[in-house]
Amino acid sequence: PVNDSLGHAVGDRILEETAERLQSQIAPHDLLGRFGGDEFVAIVHTQKAEHEVVQLAHNLLAQFNTPFHFEDLEVSLSATIGIADNSEPLQHPLELIQRADVAMYEAKRRGGSSYHWYSSDLDAGMQSQVELRTQLQEAIQQQQFELFYQPIVDGAGHPVGVEALVRWKHPQRGYISPGDFIPLAEATGQIIAIADWVFEQACKDTPTLLAAGIESVSINFSPLQFYRDDLLENIEHALQRYGVKPQALVVEITENVFMRDSQHMIQMLHRLRKLGLSIAIDDFGTGFASLSYLNQLPVDSLKIDQSFIRGIEQARRNSAIARGVLTIAQELGVKTIAEGVETEAERDYLIQHNCSQMQGFLFCRPQPLAATLQWLQE
Ligand code: C2E
Ligand code: CA
Ligand code: CA
Repeated sequence: PVNDSLGHAVGDRILEETAERLQSQIAPHDLLGRFGGDEFVAIVHTQKAEHEVVQLAHNLLAQFNTPFHFEDLEVSLSATIGIADNSEPLQHPLELIQRADVAMYEAKRRGGSSYHWYSSDLDAGMQSQVELRTQLQEAIQQQQFELFYQPIVDGAGHPVGVEALVRWKHPQRGYISPGDFIPLAEATGQIIAIADWVFEQACKDTPTLLAAGIESVSINFSPLQFYRDDLLENIEHALQRYGVKPQALVVEITENVFMRDSQHMIQMLHRLRKLGLSIAIDDFGTGFASLSYLNQLPVDSLKIDQSFIRGIEQARRNSAIARGVLTIAQELGVKTIAEGVETEAERDYLIQHNCSQMQGFLFCRPQPLAATLQWLQE
C-alpha cells in the first residue's frame, strides 16, 4: 500500500524500470514500444522463429526476478507475455499485436508470470474483447462518443436536474450502451480518456441545460479518476472554459469505490466538495461498504439503485432496503434520488415515503441533448 503522491512516483518508476529491463534484451535492430497502460510490444525478426522467440521470452521473464528499490520501498515486478507470429496470414499489420494480446490474456488466465503462444482456437470471447478494446482506442481518438441526458424530477414531477450518460456511437454497430464498454475501459485504463471527454462535453452542455430551467447536471465518475494528480486542476479548467459554476455539477460515484482505499476516496470527495461540486452516491444499497462510512462521507444525495425500486409498492423484501435508505437519508439530512422508476405505483409509493427526487423511464428516457432540452421546455 502506498499513499497518493508516492503512488504516482512509484508508478512512473515502475514503467521506467520495466522499459530498461526489457530494452536490455531486445536487439538494436528490433523494436520495443509502450502500447499504453502497462503494456509493451516488441517486434522481433527471427530466422528459426520458435526456438529464438521462446529463448527471448525466458530472458524477458527472467528480467523480473529481482525487485528494485524506490525510496524505502522494495518493489517486485512481474510480467506476462503473449507471442504471435505471422505464419498465418495477417489481414492487417495490427492483427499481429491483437493476436499477441489474445495470447497474453490466455497466459494471464493461466496464472501469469509466463508466456503463451497465440493459436487461432483461443477463446473467441477473448478475441472479441481484444477487438473491442482496439476499436475503443479508435473511438477515443476519433471521439465517437455522445452524451445522452436523463431528467431527474422532484415529487411534483418538475425537472430539477439531468444525469449525463455516455454512449459510444460505433460506426458499424450503432449506439453501444456504457454497460458494454465502461467495465472494459476501466480494466484497460481507457476510461481516463473517456472520462476527460465526458466531463468536457458535460461542461460544454451545462449552460444550455441550466437555461432550460434545471439546477444541476450529474456526471458519473470512475474510481480510477480519483488517482490522477491533475483531477482537480482539470475540473477547474473545464469549469472556467465553459463558464460553469461548480454548484451546477454533481459527481456520481458508486458505493463500492469505498471498499478499497476508502480513506483516499473520502479525502478526494472532501476536495471536490470544497471546490463547490455536490456528491451523490450511486447505486446505493448494492454494496456493503459505505454504510459504515456514511457519517464520514461528504455527500449531498444517495441514489437508490433501481433493483430496490422495482415493485416497491408491493413492499416486497427488496423494498425493505429502499425504505431503510429513505429513513437513513432523512436522519442524515441528505437527499434521496430513486433510480429506474418505471410505474406510477412506484412513483406514488416513493412520494408517500418522502423520497425527494426520482429518475426513470416513467418520466423520460435518456436522450440526446436536443431532445432533452425540448422535453425540459415542454
Ligand atoms: P447508472 O449511473 O446507474 O445509470 C442509470 C442507468 O439506468 C442508465 O443506463 C439508464 O439508462 C438506466 N435507466 C434509467 N431509468 C431507467 C428505468 O426506468 N428503467 C430501467 N430499466 N433503466 C433505467 P445506461 O445509460 O446504460 O448506463 C449504465 C451505467 O453506465 C450507468 O449506470 C453508469 O454506471 C455507467 N455510465 C454511464 N455513463 C457513464 C460515464 O460517463 N462515465 C462512467 N464512468 N460511467 C458511466
Ligand atoms: Ca449514475
Ligand atoms: Ca445508478
